[in-house]
Amino acid sequence: MQFMTIVTKILQHSASRLKQCLRTSEGLSKTSIYFFLMKELLFGTAGIPLNSNPRTTADGIRHVKKLGLGAMELEFVRSINITKEKAPEIKKVAEENNIVLTCHAPYFINLNSLEKAKVKASIDRILNSARIANLCGGYSVCLHSGFYMGQEPKKVYDTIKNNMKEITSTLKKENNGIWIRPETTGKETQFGNLDEILQLSQEFDNVMPCIDFAHFHARTNGKYNSYKEFSEILEKVEKKLGKKGLENMHMHITGIAYSEKGEKNHLNLEESDLKYKELIKALKDFKVKGVAISESPNIEDDALLCKKVYEKI
Ligand SMILES: [Zn+2]
Repeated sequence: MQFMTIVTKILQHSASRLKQCLRTSEGLSKTSIYFFLMKELLFGTAGIPLNSNPRTTADGIRHVKKLGLGAMELEFVRSINITKEKAPEIKKVAEENNIVLTCHAPYFINLNSLEKAKVKASIDRILNSARIANLCGGYSVCLHSGFYMGQEPKKVYDTIKNNMKEITSTLKKENNGIWIRPETTGKETQFGNLDEILQLSQEFDNVMPCIDFAHFHARTNGKYNSYKEFSEILEKVEKKLGKKGLENMHMHITGIAYSEKGEKNHLNLEESDLKYKELIKALKDFKVKGVAISESPNIEDDALLCKKVYEKI
């Protein structure tokens, strides 16, 4: 990470913002962007909790607070369902309740599509997710980068990197300091093993990984399921991104069904074979900070289960 930094705490929030002056070819630019940094590890729900009533984003945030959780992921997976007019209200509710918001960009993204129009639409979907999430005061945006399409992984990496460059530079120009988070994916056909995601994170100062532990487990047909293997992932994050990598994590924790082809569907933790207690112990031992989102079908129950296990250790 090659930028100058000035730390300022401007929010009474579980996350504080770090002010960054971006380096340009002429020296330091006048523009400064605020990026979120986290003070602790928060557990949260993928979307509005099941028992939230009414099922609105604002009520979902209040419900997350009532449950004693710390974060909620805005699920833009099918569409970006918050308007820019509505976003300031969401931001206000999140700040009042001290809830950190993350966002999941639409599934319909392929930064390695062979069709130019689809690449352009993918870039727009990521940018628009980042714009709305930022207006909501969000911490980070995770996304599935794309598919190998039968090509050499190195070639795919370069294509995705180029498209990521357009995304990150556009957001900087717009003074949008949200973290862009390519996710570790659940199938061998999808771009996004740990090395690829960590390397992308090294290339851009506003890119960090989204680590999906269930995806690791599914992608490798059952590996990555012990304290030792979870620790190996975290060691690698620290080796490539430094302590900052561990202190600025966006993670997904959920049970998963899988085959030799990888991910099939999500399961509740207790109905799955994921050794989540060992995972949570590793997160605690490595002093990981950031956001851990439950994507289990029971959403809030597994977020609460993880939090309980974490606090007991
Ligand atoms: Zn995902």
